[in-house]
Amino acid sequence: MASESDDWGFETRAVRVGHHRTAEGEHGEPIFPTSSYVFESAAQAAARFGGSEPGNIYSRFTNPTVRIFEERLATLEGGARAVAFASGMSAILATCMSLLKSGDHVVASKAIFGTTTILFQNYLGRFGVDTTFVPLTDYAAWQQAIRPNTKLLFIETPSNPLTEVADIPRLAELAHKSGALLVVDNCFCTPALQLPLKLGADLVIHSATKYLDGQGRCVGGAVVGDAERVGKDVFGFLRTCGPTMSPFNAWVFLKGLETLSLRMKAHSANALALAQWLEQQPKVQRVYYPGLASHPQHALATRQQSGFGGIVSFELKGGKDAAWKLIDATQLISITANLGDTKSTITHPATTTHGRLTPEQRGEAGIGDGLIRVSVGLEDIEDLKRDLAGVR
Ligand SMILES: *Cc1c(COP(=O)(O)O)cnc(C)c1O
Repeated sequence: MASESDDWGFETRAVRVGHHRTAEGEHGEPIFPTSSYVFESAAQAAARFGGSEPGNIYSRFTNPTVRIFEERLATLEGGARAVAFASGMSAILATCMSLLKSGDHVVASKAIFGTTTILFQNYLGRFGVDTTFVPLTDYAAWQQAIRPNTKLLFIETPSNPLTEVADIPRLAELAHKSGALLVVDNCFCTPALQLPLKLGADLVIHSATKYLDGQGRCVGGAVVGDAERVGKDVFGFLRTCGPTMSPFNAWVFLKGLETLSLRMKAHSANALALAQWLEQQPKVQRVYYPGLASHPQHALATRQQSGFGGIVSFELKGGKDAAWKLIDATQLISITANLGDTKSTITHPATTTHGRLTPEQRGEAGIGDGLIRVSVGLEDIEDLKRDLAGVR
């Protein structure tokens, strides 16, 4: 259905879409803390349950505040539908449960969120869904891993923590040639910097916990895509199984979307400045940031993204001791594994997010003992540099 908002720019849609003002004339979006909805008659109740009349039934799957967030995120990603979830992980689970069955096969990037790897290996594996993990940018390996029963290709780009960038159109073509779908976890870029659906992907996943909130307050997630798969299949899983986003959290996230574009520009500018500075420091071996000319996929990132995002990783000379020393010397940057906050955070992947891998697996994944990941926040860049002065 066409509406005037289709012509609006990204920033306008981020601020305006989804709020259908009530008779109270409220300017701000309302929070609806109600578990159920009242019908005018038994016939209306029957029509709502039967699906012949649209409208609210029960907040496990319909809530007006959650719907504002869903409509707003869907238009920003360029999808027909978004369905909100209680967390990013439940959004990924819902995607798999609604689109896969026993005997199906998934090909996933090796460089995805650690918990997503465990979901594929330990949980889906138990129900007869096999997953093959391949290096994100090795397209021959993707091609080789695809089988007749492959249903999903799953990636994050840029990857965590090494910020490798995958060619989304190329992987979409590979998937579609084999009758599979490409799923992109768009956590690092958000729709403000990258539109995977426009590049050929079929579904976008979000951990709203990260940049969509952007201020480290709530846990939430979403799936975005077409009306059939997301509007029917993924929504059907939510309705039946109930990993529901609360209206309070939805309100926080939709407020986050209003400033998303501004924040992502500011995160990207701060991150680029920090990455360029780090590259010149004597104790830094290597810096990983798609905005640097030295990044192996800098040209691809420039083509595919409208900004380079807020995550910078770097390898310190001196291994783990040097890395821990630098982390422990920070006064301002928070030592926490979360990312996508206005507050900068610092992590040592080898002993935290990737600590469950064997040293060989870490070596293969390129996670060195001296590697440090910084989620660059919105503080003054000079204060961030001063906090990392140990690299000089
Ligand atoms: C955090 C994260 C998730 C999981 O989201 P939760 O909201 O923590 O459940 C999934 N993918 C990526 C890339 C993440 O960073």
